[in-house]
Amino acid sequence: VWKRILKILKWNINETDYNSWMLNVKPIDLTEDKLILEVDNKFIKDRIESKFKEKIIEILNEILILKGYKDLEFRIKENEDNKLFFQKEEEPIKQEKKESKQSKQYKIQQNLFSKGYYNLNDKYLFNNFIVGKSNEFAHAASEAVANAPGKVYNPLFIYGGVGLGKTHLMHAIGNSVLKNNSNKKVYYCSSEQFTNDLINSLKNDKMMEFRSKYRKLDLLLIDDIQFIAGKDSTQEEFFHTFNELHQAGKQIVLSSDRPPKEIDNVEKRLVSRFEWGLIADIQQPDYETRVAILSKKAEMENIKISKEVLEFIAETINSNIRELEGNLNRIVAKASILKKEINIDLVKDVFYDVVKRNNKVVNKDKIIKVVSEYYEISIEDMISSKRKKDIAKSRQVAMYLLRDILSESFSAIGGIFGGKDHTTVMHSVSKIEKDMKENKYFEKDIMSLKEKILNNSN
Ligand code: ADP
Ligand code: MG
Repeated sequence: VWKRILKILKWNINETDYNSWMLNVKPIDLTEDKLILEVDNKFIKDRIESKFKEKIIEILNEILILKGYKDLEFRIKENEDNKLFFQKEEEPIKQEKKESKQSKQYKIQQNLFSKGYYNLNDKYLFNNFIVGKSNEFAHAASEAVANAPGKVYNPLFIYGGVGLGKTHLMHAIGNSVLKNNSNKKVYYCSSEQFTNDLINSLKNDKMMEFRSKYRKLDLLLIDDIQFIAGKDSTQEEFFHTFNELHQAGKQIVLSSDRPPKEIDNVEKRLVSRFEWGLIADIQQPDYETRVAILSKKAEMENIKISKEVLEFIAETINSNIRELEGNLNRIVAKASILKKEINIDLVKDVFYDVVKRNNKVVNKDKIIKVVSEYYEISIEDMISSKRKKDIAKSRQVAMYLLRDILSESFSAIGGIFGGKDHTTVMHSVSKIEKDMKENKYFEKDIMSLKEKILNNSN
């Protein structure tokens, strides 16, 4: 279970955070009502609690959905060093840490930089990128650029919707350029990281370093460039970086969720530069590509799954590749919890709600309305904080269904009901789950409510 949690968590938080905090956490025990983790010291415990506790609880309960609500508890490893370290002067140590953190990070970055690369994810490669009609143009352009950086299309501008492989292609270009020539200076960042770096450099009087860093690259990859919209000083600085690199024949690759012309609040001179080279779009994957992607992923992860099942998934999930991956993982998780093999029935079970959700016929309002009608409790009362028994019950049911049907996060659900915190929502949801298990008639009620929501909604 812990391995699975880590895997999902890894997708959900950034790699640096993951590597700095999660690597030395050990699962100790999984009891009736909680998972106990052991960490090295109090500092790490505090950090993980403040940063990831909520996420881990959510993932944990998602995975063990059939086993009742589980909480999370941290224990600190018994260790003489720890005792001494933290008995002494806890506060000053913390403060010192805080102060030096920025300069430390800066040093790490500079250090990495002197080696010539930074920030590339070595899991995103050309050879695990599956090519289909929807992405063949962007893929071919990326390979051409990777084989002759600065020589063919400059800049290369890749755009497309979320989860379609833009980031994957950018890392693949970077990895490939470095593989061909490890002396090349390659840098990948999001446009937000570029902005942050700029702000920090301005603050710390390090603009010389900033400029020499960005302007001496052989390949600069900036992801999600649309986020520089409205940020004037970033645009100004990026404009000069761009010119310098371009004039020196160095390669620039940009990605965005939309074509250059449609990015509002960006200076004209930048937009026109985005269009200088080649603009390549990535479309939603077609059916064949979706099947190919799924079978490749299953193969890479050693998952046993038949062709029919893969095709069924590809027919059902037609949005983006991240969704495909996510659903494949849900299915694998469910199969392993139930100790069942993966067949169409199991997949249907996992999908029943997803299918409806993708058809966009179900939304929050619909769910709340149906519950309110069924229990004859006004929507106003349901989202109030009244504690009258029948009101509270209808509220819990609505929370359960929002979670069950739409996979809303606990905190989002709390928001709908007047800002209840996520633990309240979690307890409500698990209360309903428990009641359903204990009372067949209640379970039937809930099922018929669900049918109602999913079926008559158009
Ligand atoms: P974007 O940056 O466009 O939002 P990503 O590059 O992050 O999308 O892709 C989302 C996920 O889907 C990643 O895990 C990526 O590896 C995977 N992916 C996307 N396109 C492909 C593809 N053609 N072949 C294999 N995996 C893909
Ligand atoms: Mg991306």
